[in-house]
Amino acid sequence: MYKALLVLPLLAGPLWAQERDFSKVEVTVTKVAGTVSVLHGAGGNIGVSVGEDGIVMVDTDYSPVAARIKAALAGLSTRPIRFIFNTHWHHDHTDGNEVFQQLAPIIAHDNLRKRLASGGSVIGRTMKPASEGALPTITFSDTASVHLNGEDIVAIHYPNAHTDGDSIVYFTQSNVIHLGDEFVTYGFPFVDLENGGSVKGMIAALKRVTERFPADVKVIPGHGPVSTLDDVKKLVQMMEETTAIVAEGMKKGRTVEQLKQEKVLGAYSKWSGEFITTDKWIEIVFNDLKGSK
Ligand SMILES: [Zn+2]
Repeated sequence: MYKALLVLPLLAGPLWAQERDFSKVEVTVTKVAGTVSVLHGAGGNIGVSVGEDGIVMVDTDYSPVAARIKAALAGLSTRPIRFIFNTHWHHDHTDGNEVFQQLAPIIAHDNLRKRLASGGSVIGRTMKPASEGALPTITFSDTASVHLNGEDIVAIHYPNAHTDGDSIVYFTQSNVIHLGDEFVTYGFPFVDLENGGSVKGMIAALKRVTERFPADVKVIPGHGPVSTLDDVKKLVQMMEETTAIVAEGMKKGRTVEQLKQEKVLGAYSKWSGEFITTDKWIEIVFNDLKGSK
């Protein structure tokens, strides 16, 4: 059942709430390790630390499922939400901000706040500026930490990866990391070149992640089931190999349409997903290498 739900946000793209039917979405809770659980709802995975001090939450999903998320949280703890982190500005991770910020302050990278405030375009779709209440009240440029539930919960910014306002969140004592959309399990990843994202930057960020965290850290992806650092390494390897192939084609003067017709990434078809197909991935890598937006 969970697998079927997983496809929906991808089909709809990460951001088009108005085209979704949220009425059938169920929010499920999976224990990860230590104080940390993950809530799977309609959009990006919500990571939570639950303990004596209350709840620390990562991302807020779409607003139409906020009541169901609140109910799931109430099943975990009667204590209040204390702080909320946002991993990046995409609406499937922040649309619930206005609802949840009535309960606790939101912390995020400076650029995330700017992008939410100004709105913009994602894959050609217009994103309206977010309301004042949805904007994070606390922002940071590099890292920010919350010390609750016997846990050092550290948000770390990686520049120009999935977007230019990404943070990952490490729950130090539980040894769990929420990677936002820097790591997803739906196949080829989405890299938001229009909003400061970069394929090279995302590879660099994920490589840093695999180097700096313990080998047995549990990984909460932006979308998909709880994963491992080995899963992250496989994604990085695919990204490096496919980037090299597209770069080679460009050196020979191929256009993006020719690369698609020649099926240069044919060997990687198992990564093709509903949201990012092989052709879409060729486009993203091509445009990234070309330096165009
Ligand atoms: Zn995203």
